[in-house]
This record gives sequence, structure tokens and C-alpha cells, in this order.
Amino acid sequence: MTAPPHQPAEPILEGRSLHKTYRLGRVEVPVLKGASVSIGRGEWVAILGASGSGKSTLLHLLGGLDRPDPGSGGVFNRGERVALERGSATNRYRNRSIGFVFQFYHLLPELDVMQNAMLATLVPRNRLVGALMVLAMLAGGLAGGILGFLAAGPWGLLPVEERTAVRAWILAITTGILGGAVMVAVVQVVQSLLVKGITSRGPAAAVATRTLGDFGLDHRFRHRPRELSGGERQRVAIARALGSEPEILLADEPTGNLDAKTGREILDLLKQRHESGLTIVMVTHDSTVAAYADRIVRLEDGGVVEDRGSTPHGP
Ligand code: ADP
Ligand code: MG
Repeated sequence: MTAPPHQPAEPILEGRSLHKTYRLGRVEVPVLKGASVSIGRGEWVAILGASGSGKSTLLHLLGGLDRPDPGSGGVFNRGERVALERGSATNRYRNRSIGFVFQFYHLLPELDVMQNAMLATLVPRNRLVGALMVLAMLAGGLAGGILGFLAAGPWGLLPVEERTAVRAWILAITTGILGGAVMVAVVQVVQSLLVKGITSRGPAAAVATRTLGDFGLDHRFRHRPRELSGGERQRVAIARALGSEPEILLADEPTGNLDAKTGREILDLLKQRHESGLTIVMVTHDSTVAAYADRIVRLEDGGVVEDRGSTPHGP
């Protein structure tokens, strides 16, 4: 039994007839069997279903984090198909249009609250730094090696009678490794200075500072995730998802790991964002949580079995 998809006036995000099959060795596990959902601009939609019904899978597909089975319908953002090819418009869709809140926060433990909240801004730079790091290591290693070799030989660091090819190589390799290590350290220092700079100035820092402030985390900017409560971690995760000022927030069981009171606080915070225009798609197995949404889409056996309005903004 499949419910006809509800058609909002101005669909901003649509999953059309989505199929998703996981392969475990030889066994095929069909998880989504033609699920369709259409999200209108400014709506708050809850996807409700039992554990294992495919809610996270559906949310990942909607967010462009995973692809549906080939030839089986697709995901559309403002009517345009979201393709998953590298470097395609999907990257822009993922980075700018949507913010994703994962079920288990997925904060990076070695980064502080501010850096986590600004991850979307920092990650592209990190890739550049990674490439620079390899280059610096090679350059440092080569330079160190050449210097070591010269020092062993013609420059006469070793006394003439001890100048053997083997010793020259040993010296060259040692100085090469040292050179590489020094360059890596230099890049790391420069990187951490850059990160400090980026996370204290600029438009992205302003957005993160404002969001974290709104979420009551002003006094936590330089704390690490392990120093935070579950509710605070979830706030950081939501702040990170909102860092690129997306128009759609996708949240996977945003209250799933929180006690009831903290869960309500998180929902109230989503409600505020929703009231200021954010479109929200939220996955939950809990009908009291789902009741916060404008609309409830019930997922069962890989398909949407019910798609109905809810009492706006819940209990
Ligand atoms: P829900 O979020 O509703 O609990 P999921 O979408 O996480 O459900 O998973 C639906 C089903 O798909 C489950 O049976 C799960 O074990 C299976 N599944 C999810 N992800 C994978 C994967 N990467 N590989 C294999 N099976 C998976
Ligand atoms: Mg799930």
C-alpha cells in the first residue's frame, strides 16, 4: 500500500519513486521500494517510521549523501535532478542548499565548538592544506637529502677518510627525513594560525558566532565536544548544519539520544528556526516528536503509507 505523495504548493525538495537496495555479500536487502515525498518551501515535515524502516536511508538520499538504485527515480531540488557525480551541482546543493544533522552528532573530537560549527567552511581549506602538506614534505625531504649528501661529500662535513658512499647516503636520508618533518611542522603551524584566523573573523565566523549564541553556547566556543552534554553537542551539530545558511535542514532523529526535557529544548529551537523560514525534514520513530511538524510522512516497508497534516507545532 502506497499513499499518493502530498503535493505542496511550492516543492523545494522531492524524492520521486526512490528505490534503495543494499547488498550484503550475495544478499540483496531492498530498503526503499519506491518511496516518494515532496517537501514544500517553508514546511516542517516529519518522516515517521519504526526502527529499520529506511528513514535514515531516505534522508541520506534526499540530502545527496547517497544515491538511489540506478534507473529508479531521483531526488529533485527545485525541480532539478540532484546528480551524484563528483564536482557536479550536487556539491553545491549539499554545501549550500542543505544542512544535515546526523543521528549521532558526528562532531570532530579534536576540534573545538567554534571549529566544529564552522566545519563546512574549514573542510575545503583542509583539503588544500592536505595537498600542501604532501608537497611540503616532498620538497623538504628532497632539499634535506641533497644538503645531507653534499655535506657528506664535497662540502666535507665528514673527514676525508670517513667519506664513503654508504655514510653519505645515511646522512642524506637522515637529513631528508628531518627536512620533511620540519616542513610538515611549518605547514601545521601555519594551518592552525589560519584556522584561528578563519574562526574568529569573516562572514562564516559571524554566522557561527550568532547561531551558537542563539543556542546558548556563548561560553563554550573553545570547548571540545567531550566537555559538552548531549543537548549541547546536538546544538553544535545543528549550528554546524546551519553554518552555510541552508534553506533546508535535514535532521536524523535530532532528539533520539536525549532525555525528554533536552529533546523538547532542541525541538523548540528547531521551531524558532522554522518560524523564521527554514524548511525542515526531520526523521523520527517517535510520534510525539513528529507532532511538532506541519506534516507527517509515515514510512513502512520501504514506502510512504501515509502523508498527512499534523496539528501545527505539536503538543
Ligand atoms: P531507520 O533509520 O529507519 O532505522 P535505516 O535507513 O538506517 O533505517 O536502515 C534500514 C535498513 O537498511 C536496516 O535494516 C538496515 O540494517 C539496512 N541498512 C542501512 N544501511 C545499510 C548499509 N550501508 N548496508 C547494508 N544495510 C544497511
Ligand atoms: Mg535511522
